[in-house]
Amino acid sequence: MHQVIASQAVVLPTDDGGLTVGPATLHVDGPLLTAVEPGVAPGADVLPGLLAPAFVNAHTHLSMSAFRGIGGLAAMRGNVVEDLYYRLESSLTAEEVSAFSRMAIGESLLAGVGTVWDHYYFGRAVADACAASGITAVVAPTLQDLSGPGVRMLDAQLDATLEIAADAGLREAGVVAALGPHATDTVSADLWRRVADVAATHALPLHLHAAQSIEEYDRARERHGTTPIRWLRGEGWLDAAPSALLVHALYADRADLEGLDPARVALGFCPASQIQYCFPAYTRGWRALGQRVVIGTDCGACNDGMNVQQELRMTASGPLFGVVADPAFTDFWRGDAAAAQRVSARRTALLAESEVTPAELLQMVLERPGTLHPGLPVGAIRPGYRANLVLYDLEHPCFWPGSDPLRALALQDVAPAIRRMMLSGAWMSDHGEHQRAVLTSDWLADARSVARAHLARFLD
Ligand SMILES: [Zn+2]
Repeated sequence: MHQVIASQAVVLPTDDGGLTVGPATLHVDGPLLTAVEPGVAPGADVLPGLLAPAFVNAHTHLSMSAFRGIGGLAAMRGNVVEDLYYRLESSLTAEEVSAFSRMAIGESLLAGVGTVWDHYYFGRAVADACAASGITAVVAPTLQDLSGPGVRMLDAQLDATLEIAADAGLREAGVVAALGPHATDTVSADLWRRVADVAATHALPLHLHAAQSIEEYDRARERHGTTPIRWLRGEGWLDAAPSALLVHALYADRADLEGLDPARVALGFCPASQIQYCFPAYTRGWRALGQRVVIGTDCGACNDGMNVQQELRMTASGPLFGVVADPAFTDFWRGDAAAAQRVSARRTALLAESEVTPAELLQMVLERPGTLHPGLPVGAIRPGYRANLVLYDLEHPCFWPGSDPLRALALQDVAPAIRRMMLSGAWMSDHGEHQRAVLTSDWLADARSVARAHLARFLD
């Protein structure tokens, strides 16, 4: 089907990697955008509001929304992944992962997220859940052979990776595969070699956690005599794949990250999750090195929300939390009035180091992650990209006054202003019916009852 749609306010890419808003006409054929012309062409279906690419959540574990709140505050004190989640995950079933994932997909769609990079067990169930809902996805079945719940299903997960990659129906639905070695301490050198070979042969991206905990960092130093990221780089495994997404990189120093090629490698930042289970990554250092920063929510259990757009405010202003951690503030707090000037100077310096434009923030959840998988270009209104679009009501109180739409889109809470969403060229609803369409969809109705029934055993 050929569709011609237009708006006076379309979020378009600029030549220098930024974004602008202006009138444009879009041609959509099947799942893809095939042409974009400036101005509103006669005969086009003119949409009222801001037309933007759907967001890309660069790192999540959809199914884990089911574990929200389990363990309480105590669970967050140690290594929550190893101490709590591994135990819960060791008895998961494919049916549970399917139902739990669909709940998180519903939440994602309500927030205007059109693509997720998922990393989990029972990858085939995740891929099928995504395809059933229409959300597009890069699914990485989690691979582990040294420790973790994935050890028992390693071969099945490797098979699922290749099966997803080869499945024409999934590809048509915008669901593609990545290789998902879990982390540097749960995957042996042998498995890394195997993964790198498969990545090279099948041109599949790598999606992995790297240097995400102090335990992983210490294990790399003990086992390999180097840091997790220098180990991966030194062995050449990151070079085998067309692209690599390294998530968290919390225990990564300058030498680890210097020289990573931003055309091929992206660093995944998940602020809301990191402040809960570890600490927020040093992204202003990453940006100073010219690295490609992309943003994900991580899982609902350690982040509480699947709305990746809401991570942007923290990304923009988070570094300012550093003011009270500065020694100048400690002096001030103890009563040294003269330190107030140093506190203010620290604030000014942090602001200057971390300043980021709304367009740059938006690109961290749009085209930057959207071009990491060669088989699924998303996150921009360009010919050849998936037609994953969101129409926002600029007059909605959450978007109001909307005089600077890019700033509003980056920093305000815009999900309630979504009027319509298009996934792979198909509108999910009529105008103004987005929320109802998601909440009443068959794939979600079915998931709700199954997920609720299964969740009971985890809450015991
Ligand atoms: Zn993760």
